[in-house]
Amino acid sequence: MSIALVWFRRDLRVHDNRALVAALNDGHVPIPVYVHAPAEEAPWVPGGASRWWLHHSLAALDAALRDRGSRLVLADGPSAGALGDLVRRTGAAAVYWERLYEPHLARRDRGVARALEQAGVAARVLPGGLLVEPEAVATRSGTPFRVFGAYWRAWRRTVDGSGGPQPAPAHLPAPRRWPRGHAPNALGVLPEHPWTGKLARTWTPGEAAGLQRLADFVDVALEGYAGSRDLPGEDGVSRLSPRLHFGEISARQVWRAVINAPGGAGVEAYLRQLAWRDFAYHLLHHFPDMAERSLDRRFDAFPWRRRYGTLLRRWQQGRTGYPMVDAGMRELWHTGWMHNRARMLAASLLVKNCRIPWQEGARWFWDTLVDADLANNTLGWQWTAGTGPDAAPYFRIFNPTRQGQRFDAGGEYTCRWVPELAGLSAAQLHQPHGRAAGDYPPPMVDFADSRREALAGYQRVRSRRR
Ligand code: FAD
Repeated sequence: MSIALVWFRRDLRVHDNRALVAALNDGHVPIPVYVHAPAEEAPWVPGGASRWWLHHSLAALDAALRDRGSRLVLADGPSAGALGDLVRRTGAAAVYWERLYEPHLARRDRGVARALEQAGVAARVLPGGLLVEPEAVATRSGTPFRVFGAYWRAWRRTVDGSGGPQPAPAHLPAPRRWPRGHAPNALGVLPEHPWTGKLARTWTPGEAAGLQRLADFVDVALEGYAGSRDLPGEDGVSRLSPRLHFGEISARQVWRAVINAPGGAGVEAYLRQLAWRDFAYHLLHHFPDMAERSLDRRFDAFPWRRRYGTLLRRWQQGRTGYPMVDAGMRELWHTGWMHNRARMLAASLLVKNCRIPWQEGARWFWDTLVDADLANNTLGWQWTAGTGPDAAPYFRIFNPTRQGQRFDAGGEYTCRWVPELAGLSAAQLHQPHGRAAGDYPPPMVDFADSRREALAGYQRVRSRRR
């Protein structure tokens, strides 16, 4: 039997792995490979939390492959060179992989495919981790969508689960001789920063834990998802984001599990979030510099604050003086994840009330989130900033005090992460100043004044031509 390399990237699973299945169906003995090439990801080299997750997820994938008679070969980049070298050493006739969509990685992959084909080796590229490919939907005039509502309707008509997720192969054929790879600890994926050590208290990376989480969520929380997804104090969301990012479970598996469940309104609400994910990739694919620049270029002229080191640090440390924002920022620091409602409030305070460029916040999230994802993070920041995607207007500015009173009325979330406020009544909790709240700081910016300044800046931007 001929040999094929299967290049794992963000499909760190054995179930529903299209590249693995295609290699087997084409009659090859698959050699699973992971190439560590952080320089190729510049300027979006994965941050500490991401690398912590990746290291452990690779170990889990290796174990799942070994259970089936195979293993994961680890190599050091650059990718084209490492794959070329493995092809020579194994005599592989083809390399299979699932598509990545980030513009810089898609460019890299095209280069790898060219190099392989010049060497007479077939490059077989399968669809990647989305439910709807970025090019599969367009507005009536053939342009990319910029507004989610219209995208959602087109997505709902297009999404098709008929292929269904594929089961994991029970057994994988092995080559007569395995090529030598790197030892996991020698590869340098795991960050040395002690901060990442505590992430293990919250998370177990790997496909098996991801499948379990999906099953538990569908069983217990999907039905109430539409109502509880906005309440950070409840266990109402799936927390599948890092698993979807690394492809420990595929979006098709999630789609299938959700659509088959008796989840009522929760089903449609959850599918809508999966569509937001595809929308984020649709935008990044069609507007490739969106991770760096505002989609609406007029925001280049917004009067961003020039000196903001102290404000930025207080925001990063969860000491803004706005309890629900601080709860979110501390949740992020302790767990590498933050509830979506808190992400929106934290981002809004930074960009709109502090007038700090959204890219600063996006970079902090990039480094600290276990689910850091270029498309979703960029959309999340630009949507909250009101700088172009969707119809989210700049002038709608979240009031973090009112948001806290509405979405964390009993204070479960806020008190969990800002325990110095735990003695206050629910009525005082979101406006604790001047009350017995230990050394909890006063607000770092006055909400009403900073809102006025932001709106004045927005008027200047709006008067410019698009
Ligand atoms: P659930 O509510 O269970 O949703 C299911 C899945 O749908 C998520 O796992 C995610 O893959 C997708 N999804 C949900 N909401 C969104 C959304 N608004 N945009 C795109 N996809 C979505 N998400 C990331 O995965 N990585 C990021 O780096 C990221 N950065 C963000 C930054 C900001 C400022 C904001 C406002 C949002 C960001 N999000 C990001 C989107 C969202 O907050 C997370 O996907 C969600 O909180 C993950 O939790 P969950 O898996 O429990 O979500």
